[in-house]
Amino acid sequence: MARKRKLDLKNYQQVLLAKREQIKQNIQRLEGESSGRDRLSRQTAKQDFEGGGDAALESMERSQSAAMIGNLRDMLASIDEALQKIEDGTYGICEWCGKNIPKKRLDALPEATMCTECRNHMGPM
Ligand SMILES: [Zn+2]
Repeated sequence: MARKRKLDLKNYQQVLLAKREQIKQNIQRLEGESSGRDRLSRQTAKQDFEGGGDAALESMERSQSAAMIGNLRDMLASIDEALQKIEDGTYGICEWCGKNIPKKRLDALPEATMCTECRNHMGPM
């Protein structure tokens, strides 16, 4: 079991909540774009299409934003998990080896639930 240490949980919680809000907005924006509801931000792209008439580009954009939405949803899930850990009092402890996740890593990636070593063992996700 990891040794208890003092982390500024309130601070991480705030960062995570802000990040979560931002990601939610990004998802909404991307979903709006892919269903064509967000006309304003597509205006410039539309002009390009009218000039070149490249439908392939549009479908590529669509699949790109679908992939981005997927990534954002994954991030959202990690953030929710980290927030839950703050509630449970297990925040900052690696899920795999049970060691403390270095503070430096948490500062850079507050939703991290694994230490760098374990994360590297997992390989790219
Ligand atoms: Zn670990």
